Amino acid sequence: MKFIKTKTILTKVKYGDEWYGIDYNMNLYRGCPHGCIYCDSRSSCYHIDNFDTPVGKENALVILENELSKKKVKGVVGIGSMSDTYNPYELKYEQTRKALKLLSKYNFGVSIDTKSDLILRDLDILKEINTKNNVIIKFTITTPSDYLSKIIEPGVCVSSKRLQAIKTLTYNGIFTGIMMNPVLPFITDKEEDIKKLVKLAHEYGAKFIYTNMSVTLRENQRDYYYEQLDKFFPYMKEKYKKYYGERYNCMVLNYKKLYKIFTLECNKYGILYNMNDIIKSYKKEIKKSEQIALF
Ligand code: SF4
Repeated sequence: MKFIKTKTILTKVKYGDEWYGIDYNMNLYRGCPHGCIYCDSRSSCYHIDNFDTPVGKENALVILENELSKKKVKGVVGIGSMSDTYNPYELKYEQTRKALKLLSKYNFGVSIDTKSDLILRDLDILKEINTKNNVIIKFTITTPSDYLSKIIEPGVCVSSKRLQAIKTLTYNGIFTGIMMNPVLPFITDKEEDIKKLVKLAHEYGAKFIYTNMSVTLRENQRDYYYEQLDKFFPYMKEKYKKYYGERYNCMVLNYKKLYKIFTLECNKYGILYNMNDIIKSYKKEIKKSEQIALF
């Protein structure tokens, strides 16, 4: 893997209270090798060349320690918004593991987006952070079918393995749930699949499922997605063109009905689905004023 130098690593999140209550964001890798056919991070607007071949940030840990030591609010740091931090290179380089150790050392919380069960390697540090600050893990699972997940998310473990990882994390007291995003129109939007996934989420101990019931498509990302549709789902591209044209946010056609079914199922099993409820539920009673006092 190639490495580049970075000047900063933590970005202050403006609207954190609306998005999982995150205060800062960081990406330890640039690009992602997992090959999800719908990946938004490969969109042209992010200007990431060779997206499928990630590069590491050579001085990330030094910069991170420097930045953490100066922050007045010991908030929640989001990892993995643009690139799954548990890519295969992480096994060797352990950038994420080392970064988590720093978050623990400086008493910060963490929010991780991933599709990889490699996260279980770092269970010890996540548990340690969890004793001091807030931890939330979001596993993206878009389908209950292992067969389908292997096609649409070829570089990561199948859905059933992700569910197993959720079970382990939850058993160890880590607040873990599912990002059911995207929902791919005509592919993963079947009523029975949504119901099945909510039931599985319950069985494996997921605390929440969040979904927008849509896929976003924009320049470059759309081209890649359509190429993959042609490969695996004949005539599907034409359907997308007919119903969505060049639209950015492509909602599933029966959005209202499907969302209603989804919420009814979640209520049946006591699974959270509203963002405010999720944030309230995972955030411990650490007020920002107290965090500043701690600092
Ligand atoms: S894991 Fe996330 S960042 Fe990586 S390819 Fe899939 S959607 Fe993109």
